[in-house]
Amino acid sequence: MALPEFRNEPFTDFSLEANRQAMRQAIAAVEGKLGLELPVVIGGQRIRGLETFESRNPSNKHEVVARAPKATSELVDRAVEAAWRAFPGWKRVPPEVKAALFLRAAELLRRRKFEAAAWMVLEVGKNWAEADADVAEAVDHLEYFAREILRYAEGRPTVPHPQEVSYYTYEPLGVVAVIPPWNFPLAIPMGMALGAIAAGNTVVLKPSSDAPATAYLFLEVMEEAGLPAGTLNVVPGSGSVVGDQLVQHPRVRMVAFTGSREVGCRIYQEAAKVRPGQVWLKRVIAEMGGKNAVVVAEDADLEEAVSAAVVSGYGYQGQKCSAGSRLVVTEPVYARVLEAFVERVRALAVGPAKDNYPVGPVINERAYRTVLQYVEVGKQEGRLLCGGEPAEGDGYYIQPTVFADVDAAARIAQEEIFGPVVAVLRARDFDHALQIANSTEYGLTGAVFTRDPERIAKARAEFHCGNLYINRKCTGALVGVHPFGGFKMSGTDAKVGGPDYLLYFLQPKVTSIKFR
Ligand code: NAP
Repeated sequence: MALPEFRNEPFTDFSLEANRQAMRQAIAAVEGKLGLELPVVIGGQRIRGLETFESRNPSNKHEVVARAPKATSELVDRAVEAAWRAFPGWKRVPPEVKAALFLRAAELLRRRKFEAAAWMVLEVGKNWAEADADVAEAVDHLEYFAREILRYAEGRPTVPHPQEVSYYTYEPLGVVAVIPPWNFPLAIPMGMALGAIAAGNTVVLKPSSDAPATAYLFLEVMEEAGLPAGTLNVVPGSGSVVGDQLVQHPRVRMVAFTGSREVGCRIYQEAAKVRPGQVWLKRVIAEMGGKNAVVVAEDADLEEAVSAAVVSGYGYQGQKCSAGSRLVVTEPVYARVLEAFVERVRALAVGPAKDNYPVGPVINERAYRTVLQYVEVGKQEGRLLCGGEPAEGDGYYIQPTVFADVDAAARIAQEEIFGPVVAVLRARDFDHALQIANSTEYGLTGAVFTRDPERIAKARAEFHCGNLYINRKCTGALVGVHPFGGFKMSGTDAKVGGPDYLLYFLQPKVTSIKFR
C-alpha cells in the first residue's frame, strides 16, 4: 500500500466568517454538554459511579467542564491486564489494516475539528487559533504514523552471510503507560499514545487532571475508527496516585511521559527500580520543560525578530514547553528591541479564550499563584516594564509581563515559569548571547535572529538545544517538518513527529536461519 506523501493539516482560516461562525456554534454546542461525567474505560467497558474530581474552565473558574472519575488502584490493575489481553491481537493486526485505521481516525477527527477545538477553548483556555493548531497536530500524528507503520513493517537489511539468512524485524514492547500534560490536551496524548499503538503496543492512558474531557474525544475517535477494545484504556485520576501506580507497576513495560522536570525526574527514577514479578527493564521517554531563548543580533531584521519574540513569549499565555521565555539581545540594538517589544506586549489584550483574546488565562489556581510569585521575584531581579499584576476577569488572568536587564543567573532567567512572563537579557555580543542562551539546565528550543551566514553557522554548532530555529519563532513545531524534543533537563529527546520516534516503542528482533 503506497500512501500519498505526508502533508501537514492546514490551519483553519478564522478571517473567514464561515469559520468564525462554525467555531462559535461548536463552542455553544460544547457549552451545552458542560458538567458531563466521564467514565473510566477498560477493555471498551465504561465504568461509572466512582468518586469524581472536576475540570474547570480557566477563563471562568466557576464553570465545571467535566467531572472525571478517580480510578481506584484495583481499576488501574484491571486496565493494565485488559491492555495485556488486547496486546497479542493488536500486535498481529497487519500493518496495512493498522494504517487504514489511523487514516480513518484522521478523517473522523477532521470532521470533528471545531468541536475538538471548542473543548480545548473551554477546558484549557486556548484561543481559537491555538486550539485549532492543536487539533491539526493531532490529525498530523494520525497521518504521519499511518505511514510510519508501513515503513517500520519492512524491517532492516542485514549483512549477507554465505550459509544463513537473517531477518531484522521490529516487535512491539507490550503495555505502555501514557502520562501527558494539559497544555496540548489532544496533540500530546495522541502523539504519545498513537506512537505506542502504531508500533503494535497497547496503552493505559492517564489523562491530565486539567484536561480529562479533551482526552475522551481522542478515545471516541479511535473507537469509532475501529480500534479494538482494550488497545486504549483510560484511567483518570491524580498523578501522584494513578500516575505513580502505573509507573511502578511491574506489568507496565514502558512509560511515555510529557510534563514538568520535577515529575519527569521522579518517573525516571521510579521506573528504573525492578519490582517483584517484573521481567524487563522499563523503557521511559520523558519530555520535560524549557527555558528557551530568543536571541536577536544587531544585524537581524528587528521588526520580524520582535514580532516573533512576542508570539514565542506570550502565545497561549507562555504555557508552551517551547515558549521563548528569555529574550537575549546584543548591546547595539538592546534599547531599540526592548522598546519595540514592550510596546507590542502592552497592546496584547487579555480575556476569555471563548472570545478569542490573544492572551487568555493560565490553567488553574496553582499556576496562577506560582506565576504571580515569580512576578514578585522578578520585581527584585529585573526592571518591570509592563504587566506585573493579575488582570481583570473571573478566570486566572495575568497581565503579560516583561522584565528587562535581567541577569543570566537570576531565577526568572533560569527557572521555567510557564506563564506570560518574559525576561529580557543584554548580551555584550553574539558569542555572549549564545553563552547566555546555553546557560540554563534546559535545552529544548531556541531562536536566533541574524542575517549573517557565519553567525547562523555558529548558532547551529553551539546553541545546545533540541529544536533550533533561525529567523523564526521558537514555538509551533509541525509534525514531520520539525520533529520535536529537547536536550539536557528538557528530556530524553524522543523527537515526536520524526522518523526515529516509533523506535522508542519497538524492540528489534533478529532471526537467522541456517540453510546449508
Ligand atoms: P506535570 O505536573 O509534570 O504533569 C504531567 C502529567 O504527570 C500529568 O498527567 C500529571 O497528573 C502526571 N503526574 C503528576 N505527578 C505524577 C507522579 N508522581 N507520577 C506519575 N505521573 C504524575 O506537568 P503539567 O503541568 O501537566 O505540564 C506542564 C509541563 O509540561 C511544563 O513543564 C512543560 O514544559 C512540560 N511540557 C513539555 C513538553 C515537551 O515536549 N518537552 C511538551 C508539553 C509540556 P495530574 O494532572 O493528575 O497532576
